Amino acid sequence: MGSIFSKIINRELPAYIVAEDEQHIAFLDINPLAEGHTLVIPKVEIDYIYDLENQTLAQLHVFAKKVAIALKKIVPCKRIGVAVAGLEVPHAHIHLIPMNQIADISFSRPKLNFTKAQYEKMAGQITEAFRAGTNHTTTLS
Ligand code: 5GP
Repeated sequence: MGSIFSKIINRELPAYIVAEDEQHIAFLDINPLAEGHTLVIPKVEIDYIYDLENQTLAQLHVFAKKVAIALKKIVPCKRIGVAVAGLEVPHAHIHLIPMNQIADISFSRPKLNFTKAQYEKMAGQITEAFRAGTNHTTTLS
């Protein structure tokens, strides 16, 4: 059986997708710590991020960088925090969390709630910024 995230990749489960390429997908976290909290995952289903092949891991981070740049254009914040936990969903993923202070990236904080319309608006704006930025963002190759 595939992970929840593989089901999102395969469109068997809904998600507010913000960016995608052949090997990666990024979507809004359903229980966000901050507005715009995004998960970036490889399409290959591997539980522990450091079990990824070096090239796959490097490409995942480069893709996450592009998403983070787009996210920062949409959500006012000091910077985009990056975290990897992976204790809940056994499919490697990077959390991108807009932050203004260190406490903003604390996973023990209460999660936020947004309406479907708010999630859709946020996802649409990030997607637009991502598409606008992909032409001039550094790639591995
Ligand atoms: P971790 O595995 O890094 O500890 O946490 C997994 C993250 O995935 C959590 O922040 C949780 O809110 C998020 N998450 C779990 N299930 C879903 C889901 O079905 N859809 C989305 N968009 N996020 C999920």
